[in-house]
Amino acid sequence: MNSSEEIRRINASSRLAGPKKRERIFAYLCTLEDHGVPAAVEELTVTDSRYLAEYLAQHLELVAGHPAEKTRAAEALREHGELVSAAARLVPWLPEKTLQGFIEDYLSTGDPDAPVSNVLYTIGIYRPELLRPVADRIPDDSIRQSMLSGAPASEVQHLLDQWEAGKDPYHLVQLAFARTPFAQEALRGVRDEFGGSPEWETLLELSGALPDSPLPAGCAPAYMGFVAERSASPHQVARPVSGDVPLCHLCETPAGHLLTLSAEELPYGLTADPTFYWYACGCDGIESTTVRTEPGRTTVYYGPQGPADPDFSFAGGERSLVLETHPNQAGVTTRGVTEQSLHQVGGLPRWIRPDIHPRCPECSGVMRFLAFMDSARTPFGQLSLGGIVYCFWCDDCRVSSTKIQY
Ligand SMILES: [Zn+2]
Ligand SMILES: [Zn+2]
Repeated sequence: MNSSEEIRRINASSRLAGPKKRERIFAYLCTLEDHGVPAAVEELTVTDSRYLAEYLAQHLELVAGHPAEKTRAAEALREHGELVSAAARLVPWLPEKTLQGFIEDYLSTGDPDAPVSNVLYTIGIYRPELLRPVADRIPDDSIRQSMLSGAPASEVQHLLDQWEAGKDPYHLVQLAFARTPFAQEALRGVRDEFGGSPEWETLLELSGALPDSPLPAGCAPAYMGFVAERSASPHQVARPVSGDVPLCHLCETPAGHLLTLSAEELPYGLTADPTFYWYACGCDGIESTTVRTEPGRTTVYYGPQGPADPDFSFAGGERSLVLETHPNQAGVTTRGVTEQSLHQVGGLPRWIRPDIHPRCPECSGVMRFLAFMDSARTPFGQLSLGGIVYCFWCDDCRVSSTKIQY
């Protein structure tokens, strides 16, 4: 049986519910060459099944690279018309010419809810600058929101004028989302009106600056992260650990290892490998964990610590995080959505709700954002984190802090 027949056989099974079919298709594709990318693309170019097109595009979204194959699949989905919304998953890899084609399709339908609007929404996440020239022809609020990322000074000035006129904080939130030096300067200019309150600090950090440091709130460049086999990258995911880890303060379940970034493999000038943990139990009311990891010694702040469960892994075994440069270096403005936001290293947080950065318990400095990990599908199954886990780091004190949003 060739790969196409096998994919169709799984998809046609009447014994399997949708999510199970998807799981089987992912697992099967992972056994093929190049993580099943050629087979998935081949089937995407011929299928008429909306669900199968979506599953295959979801699989391609979890694999780094392969821009030419992904472009071929996206072009076929565009031709097909009815399946076009699945192409949204492929946007980060598409060349400008292909993306312009989708934008033209959207504008010419005149229907803001047409299937191609999904693709536009994702173009807003990854390539907002392509939408800005036609902004006045896009009525969708969430797509318009995405265009704040890297907004020109004239638009930031307009938002500042609106704030001055009505003192509605909404306009400053929108201004912060521009994430440009001009926006940061504007926010520093209104500091006295807020008395340096947490509300102002949240706005400044959202814009990409820190209140007490000349360092940016995040690290450049930003990368998209893809969970892969252990050997694929020096950045470790879900590694079984020994020694102490944070314990859930409600049920005492040991936290699991989430992510260790290799400092020397990143251009961030970090002096130690940041390690982040997250709780494995899923108890309600667990919001953050702050940890200092030194060789042979772990210090947990604000909560209990105890021996790790050496058999636990969030990803069914030790994995790694493959990084690929993020197409949007200004910072994604579209809000995060649990299970749909994938993973990121560097750049600025894609918050579900804009939130303040944690402070380092050792030096009291505001911590820089370093990564987020989503409770998302991986080629190895679901990474069950319960929400999006945002990872912060103080390099001077080698302290990591994670906080979750749902
Ligand atoms: Zn618990
Ligand atoms: Zn510190």
